[in-house]
Formats: sequence, C-alpha cells, structure tokens
Amino acid sequence: MTVKLDAKMPTGALAQKWDKHRFEMKLVNPANKRKYSIIIVGSGLAGGAAAATLSELGYDVKCFCFQDSPRRAHSIAAQGGINAAKNYQNDGDSIYRLFYDTIKGGDFRAREANVYRLAQLSVNIIDQCVAQGVPFAREYGGLLANRSFGGAQVSRTFYARGQTGQQLLLGAYQALERQVARGGVKMFPRTEMLDLVVIDGRARGIITRDLVTGAIESHVADAVVLGTGGYGNVFFLSTNAQGTNATAIWRAYKRGAAFANPCFTQIHPTCIPVSGEYQSKLTLMSESLRNDGRVWVPIKAGDKRAAADIPETDRDYFLERKYPSFGNLAPRDIASRNAKEVCDEGRGVGESGLGVYLDFSDAIKRLGADVIRERYGNLFEMYQRITDENPYQVPMRIYPAVHYTMGGLWVDYNLMSNVDGLHVIGEANFSDHGANRLGASALMQGLADGYFILPNTLGHYLASNKLEKVDDSHPAFREARTAVDERTNRFLSINGKRTVASFHRELGKVVWDYCGMSRNEAGLRLALEKIPQLRAEFWRDVNVPGSAAELNQALERAGRVADFMELAELMCIDALHRTESCGGHFREESQTPEGEALRDDANFTYAAAWEFAGEGKAPVLNREPLLFENVKLSQRSYK
Ligand SMILES: Cc1cc2nc3c(=O)[nH]c(=O)nc-3n(C[C@H](O)[C@H](O)[C@H](O)COP(=O)(O)OP(=O)(O)OC[C@H]3O[C@@H](n4cnc5c(N)ncnc54)[C@H](O)[C@@H]3O)c2cc1C
Repeated sequence: MTVKLDAKMPTGALAQKWDKHRFEMKLVNPANKRKYSIIIVGSGLAGGAAAATLSELGYDVKCFCFQDSPRRAHSIAAQGGINAAKNYQNDGDSIYRLFYDTIKGGDFRAREANVYRLAQLSVNIIDQCVAQGVPFAREYGGLLANRSFGGAQVSRTFYARGQTGQQLLLGAYQALERQVARGGVKMFPRTEMLDLVVIDGRARGIITRDLVTGAIESHVADAVVLGTGGYGNVFFLSTNAQGTNATAIWRAYKRGAAFANPCFTQIHPTCIPVSGEYQSKLTLMSESLRNDGRVWVPIKAGDKRAAADIPETDRDYFLERKYPSFGNLAPRDIASRNAKEVCDEGRGVGESGLGVYLDFSDAIKRLGADVIRERYGNLFEMYQRITDENPYQVPMRIYPAVHYTMGGLWVDYNLMSNVDGLHVIGEANFSDHGANRLGASALMQGLADGYFILPNTLGHYLASNKLEKVDDSHPAFREARTAVDERTNRFLSINGKRTVASFHRELGKVVWDYCGMSRNEAGLRLALEKIPQLRAEFWRDVNVPGSAAELNQALERAGRVADFMELAELMCIDALHRTESCGGHFREESQTPEGEALRDDANFTYAAAWEFAGEGKAPVLNREPLLFENVKLSQRSYK
C-alpha cells in the first residue's frame, strides 16, 4: 500500500471545525495571489464557481471545458432544486437536521465533519446566488419559496421552476465571464483534458486536445482542480448528457490519485421509461414531482386496464403503504428498489411492464391544474413532448434510471486528493453523499466546494508549500504528451468494424445488469469476465474514422469509452468486495427480512479508496475508516 489516506480532519467540536480550520489555515498575501497559476478543469457549478471565486481573489486562473461555452456544462440540466437549512418555513429545520438527514440518507458512509460543513455552508450559497440575481421561486409575500425532496420531512429545497441548475449556472457563468473580461480567467472551451502531469509527487499541469483543430497542448500550473462531473454515462443509458465522461478523473487515477467507492451510483426513481433498443438518452422527471404526484401500480399482476379504469380498491400506493412517514418522498435508493420490486412481480405498467404510475389527479383536484402548471409546467410539457401523453389527464409512467455517481476521486477535508496539489470538487469527488445522495444535495455540494471551501483550502496549500518552477519542457510533460499522441494514433489505426457507440451500449448493459439497481456475487463475477473480453474486442475491432488533426467526435468518444471500459471493471471489483448493502449499493445477499438494505458496520464502515497498481494488475484497496462521534449508526428507517 503506497497511498496515504490522511483526511486532515480538524480537531474540536463538530460545529466549530470549519471555523477553527479556516483560522488555522495559512493565507496567501493578496499581493502574492496573482503569482500563482491554477488550472481548473470544468466549468459547471463546481468548476465555474471555483474559477470565478479564485480569480476574484486574485489568482491567475485557466479554466477548461469540452463544450463550446462554459454555460453548457451538464449542471444546466438540473431541474428540481437546491437544499439549504434556512428554515424559512419554520417547520423545524436547522443546520443539524440537514446534516443528520444527509448523513443518514447516505447510509452512514460519509464523513461527519464534511457533511456538517456542507449543511453550514448551504445557507451562504442561497445568499450568494440571490445576490447574483438567481430568480428563485418566491412566496406571495416575497420570501423565497421552498418545496420538499426525498429523505426529509421539512421543506428546504429552493428552486427556480424545473430549471434550477440552469439558473444557478447562469449566476456562476456571469461571475466567471466577468473575470474572463477582467483578464483574471483565461477560458479554454472545446478543449479536453487527456492527461494529468505529476512532477515530484505534485500535480503540475495537464495535457489537452483542442477539439476543433486537434492540437495537443501542455498547460503548466501551481495546482490543478478537477470539477469534471460524474461518470454515470458508463451505463450508456442515463439521465446524464452524452458528453459527460470520466476521462479526467480516470487519467488522474492512473497517475496516482485514489478512486473512492466507485460502485456507489445513484439510480433515480422518476425517469421516463426506456422505449426502445436504439435509445441513447433517458430523461429525468424531477423528484420535486413526488411532492404532489402519487406513485402506484395495480394490485394484481398482469392487470392491463388503462389507469382510469382501475378503481382505488385495485391500486397499490406502495410507497405510502410501506413508508407511511415519508410516503412518496422516500429517498431515491428506496423508491427505486421498490419500483423494481413491483415490476419484477409483474405489476409494472406500460407496454414493457417496466414502469409505475406517478399520478397527479388528486393534486389537480385539490389545487387545480393552474397551480400544478405553475409548479411543474415545464416538466409536464417535456413529458408530453417525449411520450405524447398528457400528464394533466393521465398519470405519468416512470421507471428508475442511472442519474448520479457518489463515488469519485478520494479527497481529504481540504478537497485535495492524495496527489499533492490535485484538488477535486463537485460530482467528480467522492466526498459528502456516502452511499446515497439525497435529492437537491448535489447542487449544494458543488457550489459549497466551488464558492466557499476550495478558495480557502487551495490558498492554504499554496501558502504551505514551496513549489519549484517548472515549464512544459520538463520530461514529465514530454512523456505525458507522447502517451496522449500514441493513444490517439492507436485509436485511428485499428480500422475495425464496430462503432464506438455499439461498444458503449454493450458495456452499459453489462454494468446495468450486474452492477445496477441490485448486485450479487455471481453476477458481479460474470461481469468481471465479460468486461475484459469486451475491452479486448474494443481495442481489436473499434472503428474510428477521420484524422486527429480535425474535429473528430468518433475519436473523442473512443477515448471516453476506452476509459469507461476500465472504470466499469473497477466498479464491479468495488461492488464485489463490499458484501454489505448500503444506500445505492444493494447486495442481494445482505438484506433485512423486509427486503431493506442491511449494512455491515463491523466490517465496512470505511471509504474504499482504490489505487492503480499498473496495467494488467489488480487495483489495491486502501481503507479510510469513518468515525461517528455525533450520530448513532442505525438501520435507516423511513416507515
Ligand atoms: C437531469 C439531471 C437533473 C438534476 N437535477 C438536480 C437537482 O435538481 N438538484 C441537485 O442538487 N442535483 C441535480 N442533479 C445533479 C447535478 O446537476 C450534478 O451533480 C451537478 O450539476 C454536477 O456539477 P459539476 O460542476 O460537478 O459537473 P458538471 O456540471 O457536469 O460539469 C462538468 C464540467 O467538466 C468539464 N469536463 C469534463 N471532463 C472534461 C475533460 N476531460 N476536459 C475538459 N473539461 C471536462 C465539462 O465540460 C463541464 O464543464 C441533476 C442531474 C441530472 C443529470
């Protein structure tokens, strides 16, 4: 074991840790900040917020994204909202309650101190975004409005209709563009990071490809930040945009950064069901809909009557029946598994039988269609355009789909990986959501990381270390560039028969079937045979047309899918070793008599941080024990 996992946890009482840590961290003198250069890969909520804030502080920032504009980062897709413990509703919320809900929601597989800090910072995020002009929904009297999300019994979710991510991203984007105009941030759109450069154990730069001209370039800096999003696209079918990928974090893993809890992926219960073989994208219907929509299936298996013809007595509102306290707002992992269970029993609806109803008829009767339209109008319209069914008149059909990845690069309390100088923020790190993320907590985490945590902790790193001057003639840069060139040429020279997409689709099905909503030992072992075979075939038979010196999307995708082929294997290795069930990781061998996830705290209360041991070698498992001093580990119950 070579990786040293030191979480750098501050001492002291939980509620004081972050303040105390901020006081104890070293500062960079304002006049010296411009002497430090920082690379930020990613311009989503995490990366965009970090780039704008660090530049505002005076650092010299370079920001990279593969889209044509930072405001097209995938954060733009977020619909339902962002949590914050403002307690505007006076319904019993507090920082401690948000902390508790989040750590319990994650099935006690996250660090207490990180999650507490997240709850503390949640209130600052709302102030920051309001000051930027983000148009959050408001009550009649002018106060910001809230709604409920899964896993909570209070209303603490701030929202801008069903477009919260877009509005928050516009806020971060305008702050970023201001810095671009000032000259503090140099923006590199349509530029993909293809490798990390590590010199003397420190991250000192990246190698990129200009996606328009194909030029391979080296960028040197004093620190590198990855805010490159999640890797749910490994499943091929997911709610993520097609471009989302794992390349940046996977390249960093292969350069020494530990990858934590890769098998912790989130399956979201409310997505539009798959409709056919050739579909390449799934669409989320926001969790916010479960505030007013009721989830049900027919009581009898094989009941194919139209929803309107099934009387109340023949309906099973299974979430309300099984979890009376939380009802339709049970957390995502639980709602997803229950939907799968009723479909496996033959009670699913729609042509494929892989669907459950999300029914608004009661809410429309109670509140009127106009109120429902005001709350969810754009989501209803999206649903109707995709399915050609009017959800004001017939219930929506929904089914779980891959949505988010709780795993990611391991980071300490300062959001630094085990590679000095390499910081990881937003969905790309593994930090705060444990084994299951609660709804509306990803935006909170990405913005806490970017606006409030990293700007402090990165300064501490720079002020605490003497960094040698390096330039891109350093052998480590030359070696990384050569590796990128060779890999690119290899893709182009295979001239095989199968498209990249066909390999991606096949890989995704293997991961979904054996490492998806539930997993067992036999299935995972089978997946671990299938994935290397598929990977070997990929490198033998993939077809990547065109050249490297032009816009070549087949080439871009080939690189991303090649990385998914390796990451998928690590996910299955991680899932196989964790013989307990927890959150989104449901091991069929480990369940309570009622079929709920059964943790094994004696053996698995740790973050599993995997270390790359070399090509063809088994990865090495490092464990960061999780200590719970403030909350009592209990069987999660939402009944
Ligand atoms: C449909 C949908 C709805 C959601 N709704 C909600 C919600 O209501 N509330 C909530 O809290 N969360 C929600 N989420 C989750 C949340 O949106 C994401 O977790 C979050 O926005 C991720 O932000 P990020 O900044 O970490 O990454 P992203 O926004 O994905 O940004 C990644 C950035 O990295 C760049 N990048 C990636 N790889 C490279 C590379 N190799 N080289 C260069 N650049 C690279 C991209 O160009 C992009 O700029 C939703 C997610 C989806 C898919």
